[in-house]
Amino acid sequence: MVCGLAFFPRGFRCPNPACFGDEVEDVRFPRSGILSSFTVVRYPPPPPFVPTDPFEAFAIAEVEFDNGVQVIGPVPVEVGLDLTIGSPMKTEIDAYYKNDDGTEVVGWKFRPVAEPV
Ligand SMILES: [Zn+2]
Repeated sequence: MVCGLAFFPRGFRCPNPACFGDEVEDVRFPRSGILSSFTVVRYPPPPPFVPTDPFEAFAIAEVEFDNGVQVIGPVPVEVGLDLTIGSPMKTEIDAYYKNDDGTEVVGWKFRPVAEPV
C-alpha cells in the first residue's frame, strides 16, 4: 500500500497504474457502506450459480464503502427487491448454497439497515 489505494479483491500488486507497488497490506473494511446501485435477477443464472428451488428473484447490490471501494454482492432473498439507492447496507456472511454433500458454501451478502453499523 505505497500509494494508499484501497482495493478489492486482494491482489499482490497495487492496481493503480501510477503506482503498481508490490507492497500490499490487508486492511479492515467497514461493516457497512452505501447502496450505490443494484439490479434484480429474475431468471436463474447459468452454472456455477446454484439457484434456490423454486427459483426466487433476488437483488445484486453494489455497495460503496467509505474508503471508495465498491463491492458487488447478493442481497438475501427474504429482503425482497425494494431497495433504495443511497441507503446504508451492512455486510454479512451467509450461505450461498449447499453442496451435494450438504456442505454450505458461504460468502458475503449485503442487507439494508436503518443506520450504518
Ligand atoms: Zn499503490
